[in-house]
Amino acid sequence: RVGSSGSSNNTRDRFLGGLLAAGFDEGSCLSRYQSVLYRKKSPHIPSPHLLERLRGHESLQKKCGPNTESYNNAIKWLKSGRRTEIMECNYVVWLSYSGLGNRMLSLASAFLYALLTNRLLLIDRGADMADLFCEPFPETSWLLPLDFPINQFSSFNKKAPQSYGNMLKRKAISDIPDGNANGSLPAYVYLHLGHDYGDFDKLFFCEDDQQVFRKIPWLLLRSNVYFVPSLFLIPTYEEELGRLFPQRETVFHHLGRYLFHPTNSVWGLITRSYWSYLAKAEERTGIQVRVFDVRNSPVQHVLDQILACSLKEKLLPDVSLHDPLVSSTVAGSKVVFVTSLDSVYFEKIRSMYWEHPTTTGEIVSVYQPSHEGYQQTEKQMHEMKAWAEMYLLSLTDALVTSAWSTFGYVAQGLGGLKPWILFRPENGTMPRPPCRRALSMEPCFHTPPYYDCKAKAVIDTGVVIPHVRHCEDVSWGLKLV
Ligand code: GDP
Repeated sequence: RVGSSGSSNNTRDRFLGGLLAAGFDEGSCLSRYQSVLYRKKSPHIPSPHLLERLRGHESLQKKCGPNTESYNNAIKWLKSGRRTEIMECNYVVWLSYSGLGNRMLSLASAFLYALLTNRLLLIDRGADMADLFCEPFPETSWLLPLDFPINQFSSFNKKAPQSYGNMLKRKAISDIPDGNANGSLPAYVYLHLGHDYGDFDKLFFCEDDQQVFRKIPWLLLRSNVYFVPSLFLIPTYEEELGRLFPQRETVFHHLGRYLFHPTNSVWGLITRSYWSYLAKAEERTGIQVRVFDVRNSPVQHVLDQILACSLKEKLLPDVSLHDPLVSSTVAGSKVVFVTSLDSVYFEKIRSMYWEHPTTTGEIVSVYQPSHEGYQQTEKQMHEMKAWAEMYLLSLTDALVTSAWSTFGYVAQGLGGLKPWILFRPENGTMPRPPCRRALSMEPCFHTPPYYDCKAKAVIDTGVVIPHVRHCEDVSWGLKLV
């Protein structure tokens, strides 16, 4: 929230409770230090242990990053196809894939995994990552150099022979010494952790398999899901995760604010929208509309659901259909910030508040920055707008999101908001109740494994530890609470 432009810049906690490192050139990424002027102070303080680990990780990124001697050495081994017993620096390479919300969730998961395992995080820049996000680590780059020796990333999918799951299947990987001391461990493996991963890929979440990875310097990881909750179920990491995040539901809130800083171009989109449409209102309600199943979601049903939810939960004031003018004084102002690929919901809500007075006397303005029509992953301006809109949603006071949408998860996590979730319609009818408050601000892991590694049996992983539960919107998913 901004009182007046930049006035209290110095008194605010620009480093977000120590989450952000000093040492960046401010002009190169204005959002990093200006976000504090736009977002309410978070009541969630990062743990001293998390701060210590982040600073340590920053040193590691610098020491082993692109163009360092250690990096060049690690590349030499990668090219040779062999591994040495002790590598000074080990790496997780995150491969770009899927819609922007999905990408941000999987990238945050990959970062947490890198932090837990003392590996560097490098990212495949894909078509647009460098246009969207500033560098998160000081004095180095997280962008995978373009001359990285492995580059046919598009062939890295479920079927890729280099994937850990497929290597296990063909028994092509083993850390049991075979005479030349190294077993048959390669210099790198590909970890396929996308939503369509198979049972062998899912063994990633088992303790024994984690031991194997410890001996492999390069892990190339491709995912489009928030796999953090299942990391909490791996015994080796459980204690450390508890120290890093004594408040389990703040993982994405902290890591997202640490990692994801809009570039100056995206920051321009955000701040111009903010000052034009959001700054003046006393209260802001965000409504994120994502329709996955168009056939079962007629516009009127979705609109009825949004309004039923917002009125019932008192997120929006009701209108009077009979009195032409309910109150002659203005009793407060509210802005409804809508995001959707379609403009129809925005238009209908705006008309409603223009055609009728509110029963409370509040003035309601309605704003939607874009209506892009359809998903256009990797198109630069399209993704910049998507990122700006997720960020703007995170600046609201109350948030209504669509079930299943990672776009909404990012907004709620960054904003530290527990949203009201609009459930998906079933059989073309409006769900009742129309929405429910989320248990926590954490994203949902849509496709978790259901496997007990020790017992080698299928189990319900949503009932094993108190902090990992099933999601409100995806009953088989897992989330931290
Ligand atoms: P999810 O599919 O809802 O889980 O979210 P993703 O962000 O992973 O993928 C949806 C993609 O569609 C986004 O990255 C955008 O490119 C686009 N998109 C969906 N909803 C919106 C919206 O409200 N505004 C904008 N600008 N783009 C959207």
